[in-house]
Amino acid sequence: MRLSKYFLPILKENPKDAEIVSHRLMARAGMIKQQAAGIYSWLPLGKRVLDKVCDIVREEQNRAGAIEILMPTIQPSDLWKESGRYDDYGKEMLRIEDRMEREMLFGPTNEEMVTDIFRSYVKSYKDLPLNLYHIQWKFRDERRPRFGVMRGREFLMKDAYSFDLDYEASKAAYNRMFVSYLRTFERCGLKSIPMRADTGPIGGNLSHEFIVLAETGESEVFCHRDFERFDVPPADVDYNDDAVMASIVEKWTTPFAATDEIMEKEEWAQDAWKALGDDAKVSARGIEVGHIFHFGTKYSEPMNAYVQGPDGKQHFVSMGSYGIGPSRLLGAIIEASHDENGIIWPKNVAPFDIGLINMKPGDAGCDAACEKLEAALENAGLEVLYDDTDERAGAKFATADLIGLPIQVIAGPRSVAEGNVEIKIRATGERETVSIDDAINRLAQGR
Ligand code: ATP
Ligand code: MG
Repeated sequence: MRLSKYFLPILKENPKDAEIVSHRLMARAGMIKQQAAGIYSWLPLGKRVLDKVCDIVREEQNRAGAIEILMPTIQPSDLWKESGRYDDYGKEMLRIEDRMEREMLFGPTNEEMVTDIFRSYVKSYKDLPLNLYHIQWKFRDERRPRFGVMRGREFLMKDAYSFDLDYEASKAAYNRMFVSYLRTFERCGLKSIPMRADTGPIGGNLSHEFIVLAETGESEVFCHRDFERFDVPPADVDYNDDAVMASIVEKWTTPFAATDEIMEKEEWAQDAWKALGDDAKVSARGIEVGHIFHFGTKYSEPMNAYVQGPDGKQHFVSMGSYGIGPSRLLGAIIEASHDENGIIWPKNVAPFDIGLINMKPGDAGCDAACEKLEAALENAGLEVLYDDTDERAGAKFATADLIGLPIQVIAGPRSVAEGNVEIKIRATGERETVSIDDAINRLAQGR
């Protein structure tokens, strides 16, 4: 992609209301534009990263056996009256009336609708387990939208819903999602820690929030240092093996980890924290990037979603729901990976792999070198953003650092005359002068 033909509206100033670094950097790097409180347009650079994050989320959901669907953003209120949540949900729900004066709403979540889909088609335990997910915009009229896409009102969510015959099978479904979340966040370049979450009136201990540690996190979190050393399960982990899944979950839920919410309410948590040695304690702030929840028959009972079991009797299905916020994830990734000059994208989610900087467009040598590099790198399957604009070199370097592509290739007239370019690693600032052919070979081979 040529920068001269792209749409990258870089801002020189920080937006006044941007309180945290990820919000400032996303606005300055031309990734998002605020349209109303907590409502954003996604500009090309932001859209590219959002898509990459969604691709990772999707791959890991599929790997764990979940099946993608797409439910609408607008829902009829009837389903929510069936479950009893229409009145409970309060002001966070955006209620809409259509021209026939029917009550509709912009979905804040989809338990009711997916339960309706399930009960319409699935009748037998033989069709279980089933896990359906979608990646769709949600609206929640948050009391305090803030921190850019981190707490938006309209935001993207991946929400999966599992259906099983009984608690045991449902727990296995929960474990599969748990493992897939560990992998998803790691692939996004994040270290996530599953923390026991409040299950509210339904009870049970099957709810975890996946927390990324960051100074600007909205909650205070407490956990054991052991998590720093844990390895995330590999891509070929066997999702069909319930015992393997259970043992991974066991490992990741044994060391102490809890958010302030649990700490305030639960005496056992306070005691467990006090019992830890000082060097085992990590007390920090965290961002919730995912939340998984087993809720049994909370929706299947009032909504009559049952299957015929092997005993010939009807059983209300046991359900769970599993959320990830891809739009919030972008903020979390930037909070975890930036410096004073801008964003530092982890490789897997970077909007482009390489920023190619022509320091003197119009110079025959620079132009030829850049065109050769652009073509060869793109041929090798790399995504290149080629800065062929007439900006000053200083401004080009500042933009490249701001938008945070992992690797910069810099072509200036003097080095090009000697057949060389400079490679700069964004994360470390390391620079190296290499021949143009070496640059192509090395970058094409991912070194
Ligand atoms: P929070 O406690 O942060 O308000 P929640 O418990 O309401 O979140 P869930 O209903 O569990 O959130 O939603 C699943 C995921 O959706 C969250 O883990 C988060 O990543 C994302 N999410 C929730 N609310 C927002 C929001 N207002 N803006 C952006 N992402 C959100
Ligand atoms: Mg939550």
